[in-house]
Amino acid sequence: MRAYRMTATGTARLLELPPPPIGPDQVRLRVLAAGICHSDLHVLDAPTAMWEPPFTLGHEICGTVTDLGAGTDPGLLGRQVVVHAPYGCGRCRRCASGATNDCDRRRELPAGLGLGVDGGMADEIAVDAARLVDADGLDPAEAAALTDAGLTSYRAVAGSMDLLGDPGAVAVVVGVGGLGHLAVGVLRALTGARVVAVDTRAAALDLARECGAHAVCGPAEVASVVDVVSDGRGADVVLDFVGAQATLDGAGPLLRTAGELVVVGGAGGVLPVSKPGPLPSGARLRLPFWGSRDELVATVGLAREGRIRSRTTTYPLSDVARALDDLRAGRVLGRAVLVPDRAGPDPATGQRADHPPSTTSSDPVV
Ligand code: NAD
Ligand code: ZN
Ligand code: ZN
Repeated sequence: MRAYRMTATGTARLLELPPPPIGPDQVRLRVLAAGICHSDLHVLDAPTAMWEPPFTLGHEICGTVTDLGAGTDPGLLGRQVVVHAPYGCGRCRRCASGATNDCDRRRELPAGLGLGVDGGMADEIAVDAARLVDADGLDPAEAAALTDAGLTSYRAVAGSMDLLGDPGAVAVVVGVGGLGHLAVGVLRALTGARVVAVDTRAAALDLARECGAHAVCGPAEVASVVDVVSDGRGADVVLDFVGAQATLDGAGPLLRTAGELVVVGGAGGVLPVSKPGPLPSGARLRLPFWGSRDELVATVGLAREGRIRSRTTTYPLSDVARALDDLRAGRVLGRAVLVPDRAGPDPATGQRADHPPSTTSSDPVV
């Protein structure tokens, strides 16, 4: 099988590997779709490796269960599933409740499958059965995008529900890419807030409107747009899906007194926190990371009910480098998702395309 592996700091390559072995309580998936996150660019571009290579990239995974490890449910065979990929110690209370994203040992462990341990930009992957969430019937590329772009957006919004329930509440989504377009959808699905979406790209603003944003604008206009939409009070919540210096500097002045800044993006900006400072009196600051397994179930549920939808641009796995270039250059709308361009294992024989049966001298040579 092929896997797109980070082989050294700043270097990743599509390599041929044997299918991954499965241990007890694990299953093997034929990958149907693997999303590409801007975090993959942060990992690839980091001047020092964030986690020891080699490992396969890809933390948004949808696949079909093809092989069962000891102790797994035989009913899983053939199911289409998505993977809850945040990595945790497996022993702390957060991990026990499925919130591996908030594991007590987060700082010392890999962040997730594809982020320090083998992920899903591959033809196949072995995963713990406990990570699987049923995704039968969903478009695989759209389902893959739910596992991080959707889940992280869900968590980002869910944590601000107390503020977003205020009558006339205003939420600002900064950066309408893979995550931001789903955040607009989640805000519309779960809250009555007026949603203002901000991006530097006109096409992303069109996408925000399509996802349900009430107002869209570029960074230069957002202060005046929020002023109008909020009747001069300011935004109850600003969700920053960029995290650059410009967006962090711009967020504080948009906020209402006792509003909340939710920083999701990691583009390297630094926010000084002081009293008094750039955030208004009473403000809250939150730095959510991904989401829990239960929240992934809820996110998939919203998609099943048609209340949110991922917009995707698909690329064959063999074109992963082009897909990453397009994301880096701002040419992707919604989520870029890798899909297989090689036949999977034969369901009847388990035969894999890259492991043909050995031939004998009596075989005809044509
Ligand atoms: P993306 O590239 O798909 O989207 C980024 C969007 O921001 C693009 O539409 C771009 O045009 C827009 N943008 C860039 N600069 C802007 C500016 N100054 N003002 C307004 N818009 C601007 O990226 P993504 O995959 O959605 O990821 C977004 C960020 O979130 C990345 O930094 C990623 O690492 C981070 N992330 C965080 C978590 C978490 O759990 N905290 C999870 C996933 C991704
Ligand atoms: Zn991600
Ligand atoms: Zn833990």
